[in-house]
Amino acid sequence: MLDRSTIWPYKDGEPGEFVYQRYGHPVGAEAERQLGELDGGHALLFASGSGAATALVLTFLSSDATIALAEGAYFGTGVLFRELARWGLQVVEFDQTGRPPDDVDLVWLEAPSNPFLTMPDLEAAAAHPATVVVDATAATPIYLRPLEHGADFVLHSATKYLGGHDDVLLGVVVCRREEDAERLKEFRTRSGIVAAPDPCALLLRGLETLESRVRRQTESATKLARRLEGHPAVEIVRYAGIGGLLSFDVAGADEARHVETSIRLITNATSLGGMHSLLEARARWEGARVPPGLLRLSVGLEPVEDLWADLVQALEKTGAN
Ligand code: PLP
Repeated sequence: MLDRSTIWPYKDGEPGEFVYQRYGHPVGAEAERQLGELDGGHALLFASGSGAATALVLTFLSSDATIALAEGAYFGTGVLFRELARWGLQVVEFDQTGRPPDDVDLVWLEAPSNPFLTMPDLEAAAAHPATVVVDATAATPIYLRPLEHGADFVLHSATKYLGGHDDVLLGVVVCRREEDAERLKEFRTRSGIVAAPDPCALLLRGLETLESRVRRQTESATKLARRLEGHPAVEIVRYAGIGGLLSFDVAGADEARHVETSIRLITNATSLGGMHSLLEARARWEGARVPPGLLRLSVGLEPVEDLWADLVQALEKTGAN
């Protein structure tokens, strides 16, 4: 039952398990129980992935702290941290396939990075004295449980694979230590970066099919990555071997626009992790940080041969064939 109450009456003058929605609510608590099991820790839901990142940083860092951020990680994460520079937070970027830099307070990894698809060196990060966060949105807990590799926190944009249907905006942080979860929950309650009951109910529906979805998406993405590698209009393919996210480059911005406007089955939209395939040129958001011909493809649940046929017809007349 989806309980949308913001209040739960006291019994005999005593507050019960649920009191006021900003503190917690039944459907959120059930979703957090399931997410905690998936990642092997203590889960807390937030209004979005970005809200989760904001809460994490503001709870555990103070104004003179430095974050080492994986180069090539989700563009919005770097933009957010640079926004927080006004409150004294420093950010340095580093190659997450190697050792994080010395003298930083927080190491922020992404597995795999979006849209460059590099995997972090989790062992090197765990050996570093700083707190380690892994944004495992694209890997999902089906393929990676970072807390088992020494991370202190896992973050997911639950908007993506966990929700899975492009109709939920949510974020989750899974903490290794219960006392960290308590601190983070206190900040969430005070700041109000909370997840409402309706998206949490949709998230619970998404979690029921998470494993079947991401396994099938991985199978299709593996096939498509291999075939794209052999396509004459494609210069490079990036795929981590897990999950449904990949990126590939065509010759330039015009060729990328041609593909975007020629796809029929695949939708030209941002985001990733849903049951429908999405593709977009990332330069429109990320500028010169990405090659002008870089296309990010989130592989959905459509038959793989139909997806391939759509890509082939969209790649026609991009210059190389
Ligand atoms: N982390 C990654 C890897 C993402 O791709 C995104 C969104 O694209 C986010 C975090 C932010 O999540 P949200 O859009 O739910 O705020």
